[in-house]
Amino acid sequence: VSTAPPVTLDNHFARHLPEMGMPWQAAEPAEPQLLVLNGQLALDLGLDPDFLRNPDGVRLLTGNLLPEGATPVAQAYAGHQFGGYSPRLGDGRALLLGEVTDARGSLRDIHLKGSGRTPFARGGDGLAAIGPMLREYIVSEAMYALGIPTTRSLAVVATGRPVQREELLPGALLTRVASSHLRVGTFQYARATGDRELLERVADYAINRHYPHAAEAPNRHLALLESVITAQASLVAQWMLVGFVHGVMNTDNMTISGETIDYGPCAFIDTFNPSAVYSSIDSMGRYAYANQPAAAQWNLTRFAETLLPLLAENQDDAVRLAEEALGEFAARYSRAWSAGMQAKLGLTNDVDASTVAGKLLTLLEESQVDYTSFLRRLSAAARGDAGPARAFFSDAARFDAWLQEWLALDPSAEAMDRVNPAYIPRNHLVEEALAAAGTGDLAPLGDLLSAVTAPFTERAGLERYAAGAPEEFGSYRTFC
Ligand code: AMP
Ligand code: MG
Ligand code: MG
Repeated sequence: VSTAPPVTLDNHFARHLPEMGMPWQAAEPAEPQLLVLNGQLALDLGLDPDFLRNPDGVRLLTGNLLPEGATPVAQAYAGHQFGGYSPRLGDGRALLLGEVTDARGSLRDIHLKGSGRTPFARGGDGLAAIGPMLREYIVSEAMYALGIPTTRSLAVVATGRPVQREELLPGALLTRVASSHLRVGTFQYARATGDRELLERVADYAINRHYPHAAEAPNRHLALLESVITAQASLVAQWMLVGFVHGVMNTDNMTISGETIDYGPCAFIDTFNPSAVYSSIDSMGRYAYANQPAAAQWNLTRFAETLLPLLAENQDDAVRLAEEALGEFAARYSRAWSAGMQAKLGLTNDVDASTVAGKLLTLLEESQVDYTSFLRRLSAAARGDAGPARAFFSDAARFDAWLQEWLALDPSAEAMDRVNPAYIPRNHLVEEALAAAGTGDLAPLGDLLSAVTAPFTERAGLERYAAGAPEEFGSYRTFC
């Protein structure tokens, strides 16, 4: 007999913004089976991992057993997808179960992805396959361990129900955790209602949850815009520094909090290539690696447009304020990226690393060098052994010329090893783990997670997790 779970779930979003969601229930999985649980995250959220592993705990993770007062909602949002506007997207296969208060006293959303059709499902089946849900689990937890703001993954539960894609696949759902699921698309939806009071309530809700200091500013909605611009400039700089390609930077996939969200056709670059695109649906390369800062700025411009009625009574003034704020994006991005690259090269703030960094990226691109492995091996050169880094180049003389220039700046090897990961969720390793999980073998998933959730500490026995893709892996394509 099921009893109420030992958990408190707030209905904070549902209560404050009832117009922005529809109360809805998660589908009941045919045969739920817990595939992976994030025990440490559960503890941080005040949830008991032992309870979550029990049948009632799994029913909580799938949204089928909820504490009294919980009000799950499918959230409404709009969005520009590859530049084209859709006025009504929303949680077609997702639900916000409610919020918990974490160990630091902050509200965190407990959200389901793959929990069945909702009123926003349009033609979709409301479901998700095991592969993409495990991919989101792996990559989001790796990003967290890399120190990059992101939604988290609490669990993946197989549903026992097949999902029709190109082929029939086993179904699963992801239990996701976020500091909120407010998106640029949330604001686009609120603005499109024409209800100024609702728009203002959404903006003030975002300020309250993410940027409370903005409430003190003379123009709090301008402060909100500036805060989101700063957070996104920093986020995208961190993606670029680690070689992450999000793959589908639509406005509905960009958070107000500055957390990375919606890991679909994402991938990490191996050889350094600014035009890297992995998503099968991004045929124009709109969201290619090097286009990500521009894509973020484009999305932030859409965000600023939604705020115009709140920025000033006079709309010419509002446009001017928005343009001034957006004009800061490039400088903020560039400052965040430069500081990060400076650190990756082991250089202190008082040297100008821009020339040496630019030359290095050109060299890596021309010689098709693995970006992550090279930077990790470069610290040995700061210790006096340039061999491991030089081995990446067929033309050692060009590398040596660069090396002398960089060594003259007196890099710190220890500082480099703290910021250049040894282990990232490399595409071939992710695919290997997903393929094994598809046959019921969860061991490769566990091994990969152990490597990528402690990315900066190199360990014996994990060499294959630090190496680039084997030749036969070929060029990578992602589907979602
Ligand atoms: P995404 O590309 O995952 O960011 O999703 C874009 C929109 O499509 C969102 O409104 C999703 O809720 C919706 N969507 C994606 N897949 C499905 C599905 N299988 N069933 C229903 N809606 C979906
Ligand atoms: Mg999405
Ligand atoms: Mg999605």
